[in-house]
Amino acid sequence: MSPTATPPGPHLRAGPVLTVDLGAIASNTQLFADRVAGRLMAVVKADGFGHDGVAVARTALAHGASWLGVTTLGEATALRRAGIGAPMLSWLNPVGADFEGALAGRIDIAVPSLAHLRAVAAAAAIVRRPADVHLHLDVGMARDGAEPAAWPTLCQLARAFERQDLVRVVGIMGHLGWAEDRHDPCNPIAAQSFKAAVGIARQRGLRPSLRHLAATAATLTDDRTHLDLCRVGAGIVGIDPSGTTRLRPAMTLTAPVVGVREVGPGTSVGYGHSFVTSRRTRLALLPVGYADGLPRAASGRASVQLRGRSRPVVGLVSMDQVVVDIGTDPIGTGEVATVFGPGGHGEPTVRDWARWAGTIEHEIVTGIGPRVTRRLVPAESSSAALALVASSGAGAR
Ligand SMILES: *Cc1c(COP(=O)(O)O)cnc(C)c1O
Repeated sequence: MSPTATPPGPHLRAGPVLTVDLGAIASNTQLFADRVAGRLMAVVKADGFGHDGVAVARTALAHGASWLGVTTLGEATALRRAGIGAPMLSWLNPVGADFEGALAGRIDIAVPSLAHLRAVAAAAAIVRRPADVHLHLDVGMARDGAEPAAWPTLCQLARAFERQDLVRVVGIMGHLGWAEDRHDPCNPIAAQSFKAAVGIARQRGLRPSLRHLAATAATLTDDRTHLDLCRVGAGIVGIDPSGTTRLRPAMTLTAPVVGVREVGPGTSVGYGHSFVTSRRTRLALLPVGYADGLPRAASGRASVQLRGRSRPVVGLVSMDQVVVDIGTDPIGTGEVATVFGPGGHGEPTVRDWARWAGTIEHEIVTGIGPRVTRRLVPAESSSAALALVASSGAGAR
């Protein structure tokens, strides 16, 4: 083959690349679908936890999820525009959100207050079709959801709107704040509060068919929370906050070496003097920084993998770049570092980065910046394509 017939791989042309393994999304979804007795909702808010909301939604629906969950209506309509017709629930909307648009898109709406309920009913009156709503109870986090004291009135008004054909209460939802620890004493209190709220709803004449309380952690640790539907976000993308289950991380972030230099002892690296070399060494420059999602708080602890070995990130993480100490290794420009991956080849993981930065994996995966090129590996071709990513991360040998 002539040289022009073999263009360089994307990793040689591109800067940082985020590869999302949809095979991992598929297998995580299957694991959850096998565990739940009722239905599985894939929560794909925040662009599928940074993994590409449309791709994660499609993959999850093809592997056992039957519902999609998002926060804002903007996210929900984006999924509809992409041609996804599955049942979908949106929560955390302002009272003035476009509920008419939601009804036109057959998007279920979570209702945490009387004001929301009235706004949704008003939209239903205009578009002349009842709104499918899920009344949302705060079971103890003092966040989204109705306060228990407001619950009876909310149910009563919802029933009145049902009689006018303006709403249908199809669901009742709550969200657990401590499910990571199966033994936290607040869990049974929250479950009890939810159960009481369902009882009140029934007393007021509501007949919701979907009671839902569990997100990833509760789904994995306590079957009693599963009820009619489980809303799983983190778990679908391979994050287990409960530390009980082996899931498959889906993200691999790579970055090419764009410069190498040899420096003597006493060289200050990056801003300030947070790192000064103690010996003659070689430094590799990677064009990825905190604007791309590498937390600056990980400075001084983080490492990446280059040529199959762990290499410390030295100096502070800058907005656009980091410097890696490669010792005496003859690593050259164009070789590709694995910043993080699933961990199967000894590379750092998202969990490592979260630990180095004093945060949780969710914040790392949702924080990858817009400059990073996205690559999706289809579920069907997952293993072969990923072997390629792994070998490019190990460097040209
Ligand atoms: C984000 C979210 C979920 C999903 O939580 P995970 O722990 O990521 O599974 C479920 N329900 C609500 C209301 C949420 O906001």
